[in-house]
Amino acid sequence: MYYQSTRNSDLRVSSAEAIVSGISKDGGLFVPSEIPSVSLEELKRLGEVGYTERAQAVFSKFLTDFTADEIKNCIESAYSSGSFETENVMELKELERGVNILELWHGPTCAFKDMALQILPHLLTTSVKKAGVDKKVCILVATSGDTGKAALEGFKDAPGTEILVFYPENGVSAMQKLQMTTQEGKNVGVCAIKGNFDDAQTGVKKIFTDPEVAKVLSDNGIMFSSANSINWGRLAPQIVYYVSSYAQLVHDGKIALGDEINIVVPTGNFGNILAAYYAKLMGVPVKKLICASNSNNVLTDFLRTGVYDRNRRFYTTISPSMDILVSSNLERLLWHLCGKDSEYISGLFAELSKCGRFEASEDIKKALKELFSADFCTEDETKAAIAEVNKKYGYTVDTHTAVAVGAYKKYVQATGDKTTAVIASTASPYKFPAAVLEALGAKGDYRDEFEMADKLCEISGMKIPRALSELKNKKPRFTGSVEKSEMLEAVYSLLKIK
Ligand SMILES: *Cc1c(COP(=O)(O)O)cnc(C)c1O
Repeated sequence: MYYQSTRNSDLRVSSAEAIVSGISKDGGLFVPSEIPSVSLEELKRLGEVGYTERAQAVFSKFLTDFTADEIKNCIESAYSSGSFETENVMELKELERGVNILELWHGPTCAFKDMALQILPHLLTTSVKKAGVDKKVCILVATSGDTGKAALEGFKDAPGTEILVFYPENGVSAMQKLQMTTQEGKNVGVCAIKGNFDDAQTGVKKIFTDPEVAKVLSDNGIMFSSANSINWGRLAPQIVYYVSSYAQLVHDGKIALGDEINIVVPTGNFGNILAAYYAKLMGVPVKKLICASNSNNVLTDFLRTGVYDRNRRFYTTISPSMDILVSSNLERLLWHLCGKDSEYISGLFAELSKCGRFEASEDIKKALKELFSADFCTEDETKAAIAEVNKKYGYTVDTHTAVAVGAYKKYVQATGDKTTAVIASTASPYKFPAAVLEALGAKGDYRDEFEMADKLCEISGMKIPRALSELKNKKPRFTGSVEKSEMLEAVYSLLKIK
């Protein structure tokens, strides 16, 4: 098994090389040449073992150039080192018969990105060694909040790596800023820039692709790599929790072996729901993939009509991690659906970058209709979903999960389909306390986000995650900010290059 670019079928690499490169040189994404399968017997057996063993089973099918020991080491460093607050890594909570919440936020930053970013550094450093590269890896991240912190936690003190995160000085929430400025670890750097997220991203891209900078780094035994969501090393870990969920539901007697389930995912960059699609391709019995969006509903329209059109108003919402108009990982889905035709994919995405729009073929439209159902929630509908879940079940969801709950409700109303559902819960409600409190009718004059968390604890009865409550007593380490033009100096300074 090998990986190839969605835009060039002649470009073939091993999984280690795909993880080291992140994105293919031609701008395409790496996709597995064939899909390994998981049988019903295996799913039954996986129900009887823990999360790390389920992860071992899935990874060994996709990372065929890794040894069993290499995979085991990566998994144990990520999921057995105490950074997840629950031993099971993920939890399934049954709201009512046939409706399950898949909690993916028990990691160190209280959002589902930890599921992948806790293991990516280990997959990456192992891959670098396997690819015969004898260099230290430097990760550069531009962040609007969540990804930066999750990457910092993942790469903190990972041997052979350095990580530097740039964030817009006035573009992140107080809690997110505190999460980053108090970051621990010997190999980390956090830098505010005087500018917005676009400035940070543009600056990082420029440094990342500058051949002169690459030469300076190389002379110092260092190379750049990327931790963003198109890296195969972030997608593979996400397949694990869908396989795991099915195995768990069978084990718990909530479904019979072979029964189909529906999977509902609050979607932004299309990474998380794509992982569910891969689980289905592998043989996990999935009936519908239900794609939930917020007011930035470009995916709802695309999955319903086959027309992708990013020429529309951009909304800033209370589910900010889904405020996206170009969903990068969609390219992988389309590649599978068009019969792996890399010329066709290159054409579609050339059109997207030229006109901001493309229309899929009739065959793809048909396949999309069979696989997916799509809906979106307005801001009011999102808040209403938080309130309703709280009232009906005594359970509190965050704003992103609420979008999925709201979209699922619309799906059931429209179709009457009561197939057992797994709703991906992507963040702890404590990460977005202001919006959640408002939805629960407890909008107030709070001193800071810690006071909001205390109030939310009182209303919801849910434990405040250790990772957030601990922040209160931590001293910021990274307090300075730099001009946009000074980013390269900040990189050199972290890497101790003169
Ligand atoms: C990143 C993120 C999402 C969107 O996930 P994609 O893989 O980009 O679709 C949803 N919810 C939260 C809380 C996130 O951080």
